[in-house]
Amino acid sequence: MVDAERLKKNWSLVAAHGDQVPLYFYSVLFLTHPETRDMFPMNMAAQRDKLVTALGAVVSNVDTIEHVVPALQDLGRDHRKFGALRGHYPAVGEALVATLEHFSGPHWTPAIAADWTAAYGLVAATMADAADEAAHYTPAWWDAEVVAHDRRDLETAVITVAPGRRFDYLPGQSFSMCTDLRPRVWRQYTPANAPRADGTLELHVRAVDGGEVSTALVSLLRPGDALRLGPATGSGLTLQQGHGPIAMIAGGTGVAPMKALIEQLAAAPRPTSLYWGARTPAGHYCLDEMRALAAAYEWLEFTPCADEDLFGAGVRIGSPAELAVADRRCVGAAVYLCGPPGMVEASGKHLVASGVRAEAIHFEPFGE
Ligand SMILES: Cc1cc2nc3c(=O)[nH]c(=O)nc-3n(C[C@H](O)[C@H](O)[C@H](O)COP(=O)(O)OP(=O)(O)OC[C@H]3O[C@@H](n4cnc5c(N)ncnc54)[C@H](O)[C@@H]3O)c2cc1C
Repeated sequence: MVDAERLKKNWSLVAAHGDQVPLYFYSVLFLTHPETRDMFPMNMAAQRDKLVTALGAVVSNVDTIEHVVPALQDLGRDHRKFGALRGHYPAVGEALVATLEHFSGPHWTPAIAADWTAAYGLVAATMADAADEAAHYTPAWWDAEVVAHDRRDLETAVITVAPGRRFDYLPGQSFSMCTDLRPRVWRQYTPANAPRADGTLELHVRAVDGGEVSTALVSLLRPGDALRLGPATGSGLTLQQGHGPIAMIAGGTGVAPMKALIEQLAAAPRPTSLYWGARTPAGHYCLDEMRALAAAYEWLEFTPCADEDLFGAGVRIGSPAELAVADRRCVGAAVYLCGPPGMVEASGKHLVASGVRAEAIHFEPFGE
């Protein structure tokens, strides 16, 4: 039986060492199991540390592990794209325990070692089982081709991608993607369309300052280029059943999943209001398309907005969350929230402070 309190205490001791932890972990892993090195990018600084994040989630929920099982299953299915096999999990477990022991120093005891081995065993089994099951019906990754690359401005491109075989997803889900321009570096992107008969996916990509992948996707990618897609994951923004009104609050490319959800809602409409904020006029990179959707669907109300008065006609002043609350569009509504991490956090706080129930807020930050 794992002692949850002991594990949490030990984890906070280790996690206090910050970036040192994944750094040490990968050094041990590559030294003891050099065959795993090829699964990772050349530049390890670009490696988002999902493992450490996942461990943090497991540890903070170790007494209610069922809450993290779906996320671990997603992670296991997703890791097939790296070539991760059941046989690799023990190597990771050994490197992990060595890392935890190193950072625990004198606090490391046989009982803590046993707790970690048990907790990791559960994580590994959940991930590997989900991966094995997925292998029966889906590929480890989808090869895809860029069929259109529409650069809207310096920062943003709308990219149309054709997967080589059927790619299932729900509007609001995301998937990881890798380009040969940045080998083995994967980042998450979100389709801006509901599934289409021809299977194509529309992606809205904003280049972040100094961003390794996003700058390449926006400025270097061309039609005909190859991409690899991981499986669709996430349930934060998928449409929950119901008949009531919907309030959508988006910042920047966070409008992409909202557009996909609107296309899905067209089959069974509900009163929907979309507030879309941008920091610069160019940030409203698909204003005409969104206005055309609102003109086509009488159940959809669309409000582009911005903090400053630098924008054209029809753009209201204020943050999307403030305006949605002020217009009383969140009262009794299911609220969907997406955008850069800071915007999602600030909007969530504003909504809750304004009386919106936390359970009514569905969100996905476009963060790391
Ligand atoms: C579930 C999910 C869905 C996403 N969907 C989309 C999408 O549809 N379109 C899209 O453009 N992006 C999306 N993102 C963000 C995307 O995955 C990348 O984080 C982003 O493209 C930056 O990657 P990079 O390699 O260029 O930056 P990196 O080289 O990893 O980072 C460079 C610098 O930018 C910072 N940074 C990283 N990401 C962001 C960010 N999102 N905003 C601000 N600063 C950042 C980093 O802290 C670092 O300082 C999504 C993220 C998640 C988690």
